[in-house]
Amino acid sequence: MTSTTSFWTTAPRLLYAAVLLCLCAGAYAQQPARRPELPPAEYDRPYTGHLIEDTYERVDAIRYHCLQPESKLIACAFPAKIVCHIILPSRDLAWRRGYRLPDIRRHEIAHCNGWKHK
Ligand SMILES: [Zn+2]
Repeated sequence: MTSTTSFWTTAPRLLYAAVLLCLCAGAYAQQPARRPELPPAEYDRPYTGHLIEDTYERVDAIRYHCLQPESKLIACAFPAKIVCHIILPSRDLAWRRGYRLPDIRRHEIAHCNGWKHK
């Protein structure tokens, strides 16, 4: 008798705590902390040439195709006059590395527009 009463008074509190934990964990997972360097405004615009985008699931494939197998990069761009080739991580890979894919793409498109790191 006593244990039944105890269960019914404790169960809602446990459920509430579990829901709160899930909500907090979900909110944390939806906000990657890292951001690639933002380009200067003059380069932060759509690329008007022919854009080739390749996406890879693995960082070693990205680094291989970026011709920098020993680097730490997770994306790169090969700009040319009328064509630009960008190599990007998959959305999931970017997420796992703490980035949002649109931020990485924006960074690489700026390279297509002529931006070079300092
Ligand atoms: Zn860059």
